[in-house]
Amino acid sequence: MKLDVTDILNGRCSTLDFEYSEDAGESLTAMLPAGITVLPDGIFVTGRVSDTGGYMSLTADVTVDYTVPCDRCLDETDFYLEFTFERVISAAASPEARERIINEDDEEWDGVTDDLIYVSNGCIDFTEDLSEAITLEFPLRHLCSDDCKGLCPVCGKKINEDHPGCTPKKEIDPRLAVLQKLLDNSEKNN
Ligand SMILES: [Zn+2]
Ligand SMILES: [Zn+2]
Repeated sequence: MKLDVTDILNGRCSTLDFEYSEDAGESLTAMLPAGITVLPDGIFVTGRVSDTGGYMSLTADVTVDYTVPCDRCLDETDFYLEFTFERVISAAASPEARERIINEDDEEWDGVTDDLIYVSNGCIDFTEDLSEAITLEFPLRHLCSDDCKGLCPVCGKKINEDHPGCTPKKEIDPRLAVLQKLLDNSEKNN
């Protein structure tokens, strides 16, 4: 998302509201955790850039609609995540200029500037920052429901009221199992 912030830079206004929805671009799609598919127009952003006495800040509420297979039963399930995206906007050196400084001075950058977005030609572009922030927000577990019982270990069907699960084969008596193992081993050796 590219946003023109010249009005704030020139002091013509002190806040700028914006709202948009979009698809996951190529770079975000490549970064998504395995199995996650962001729905078309699934990223919805509503935010504000404000002049906070000398520096600009960006705050946005982000929601992402996506689908992913349930961890237990593998059913493709709808989820959404919601978080606040915040950055400080710097009208000073762009990342390219910063790179030049690092190269010229051959010094390590202290890393304090990680959460900065740089103004370039009166505009800010936070597409990559936002993509990165989104990838960090996905939960580690996805279940279609809290009490999902997963798949039947015998037939592979989803376990639910219609299919409470196949009756497992009768357990072999542990003493017989030892005998069976001995038999198997002697067969292998012959
Ligand atoms: Zn499930
Ligand atoms: Zn079954």
